[in-house]
Amino acid sequence: MSFESLGLSEPILKAVAEKGYETPSPIQAQSIPAVLQGKDVMAAAQTGTGKTAGFTLPLLEGLIDGERAQANQVRVLILTPTRELAAQVHESVETYGQHLPLRSAVVFGGVKINPQMMKLRKGVDVLVATPGRLLDLYNQKAVRFKQLEVLVLDEADRMLDMGFIHDIRKILAALPKQRQNLMFSATFSQDIRKLAKTIVNDPVEISVTPRNSTAKSVKQWIHPVDKKQKSPLLTKLILEHKWQQVLVFSKTKHGANKLTRQLEDAGINAAAIHGNKSQGARTKALAAFKDGSVRALVATDIAARGIDIDQLPQVVNFDLPNVPEDYVHRIGRTGRAGSTGQAVSLVCADEFKQLSDIERLINAELTREIVPGFDPTHSLPPSRVNQKAKKPKKPKKPKVGHRDGQRPATKAQEQKRASRK
Ligand code: AMP
Repeated sequence: MSFESLGLSEPILKAVAEKGYETPSPIQAQSIPAVLQGKDVMAAAQTGTGKTAGFTLPLLEGLIDGERAQANQVRVLILTPTRELAAQVHESVETYGQHLPLRSAVVFGGVKINPQMMKLRKGVDVLVATPGRLLDLYNQKAVRFKQLEVLVLDEADRMLDMGFIHDIRKILAALPKQRQNLMFSATFSQDIRKLAKTIVNDPVEISVTPRNSTAKSVKQWIHPVDKKQKSPLLTKLILEHKWQQVLVFSKTKHGANKLTRQLEDAGINAAAIHGNKSQGARTKALAAFKDGSVRALVATDIAARGIDIDQLPQVVNFDLPNVPEDYVHRIGRTGRAGSTGQAVSLVCADEFKQLSDIERLINAELTREIVPGFDPTHSLPPSRVNQKAKKPKKPKKPKVGHRDGQRPATKAQEQKRASRK
């Protein structure tokens, strides 16, 4: 399978080749033809599968013909949950569309609204947006949807987790009823399916990873450890294994700040990204992490959502997430595009419930390794996942009339036996 055979035009194929892609990833092979045919799509795919090109390439193709966007109008709207993801998706739109005469823009909160309004004035063919800022712009009449042809919901599960459902509903109400809809989500929970019913119409369903399972190319394990020992253990792991680029997940903003200070004190360049940091600080931290000047990036789930770093080798769950699906998202940061990655979780006894929820979701027991010198005083109970499977089966009741059974055979059975002799 080649990109040429998918029906994309020369300017798009050129951009793809310049990016160095040789063959479409599985999600691209499935979604590109479906989107080109104008079908609605519902895809279960994590970041790292190539999903962004999976929807961007055919959407750009569809925009080549047709009327250009008029003042304040938008032809393709891509909604994402976070600023980082919005910026990244927009970067892809620009890259893949660089040889096309199309206009695109990205809008998100936390920065001035005026420059965004100016950008929208002439109209854009593709707009990438986070829901809150988009609504602000809509309410100020800076954006209109009369020409809207396609709606994309990227990382829809995360949008629901972040409480964007009301904003999404308001946006949907402002869009023309006749449109193409694409929905991408790492996991498909009941809530997502409910939302999907109100958005997509007879969709082509695509799934590139088994439902609710983690990427296969990621080596995952846990280190049981006492809570107080987590920070010294992380320091030891980073130094001993010479991890050069490690994304560390913290449950709270406060925890992320504290851990960053502790790592810095141990001589490890670290930075934190979370919702309390300004957009500028977040962008700077991410850039420093990408160029290698920051060795450990400590992030909360929301801030880390959708961060795309090629071949991120190491993810550490300093705390386990309360929502087990977040574990799947976190692990999705590593082992991407065919490379293998590692994900280790530091788990204290208090987190046994979270661990059990995760193991139930991914339907696997995570290997436990105690690091010498870090033996927990509060040990973790045994995993619940395999316990169930190991439960001995009840011995079967012997069949009536069985030779070794205790119950006497019926008369008919005795006669049958006698006739065989
Ligand atoms: P995504 O899942 O969209 O975040 O993409 C994950 C990474 O895979 C990005 O860094 C892309 O540049 C890369 N990628 C996307 N499509 C391909 C492809 N067909 N071949 C190689 N790399 C790709």
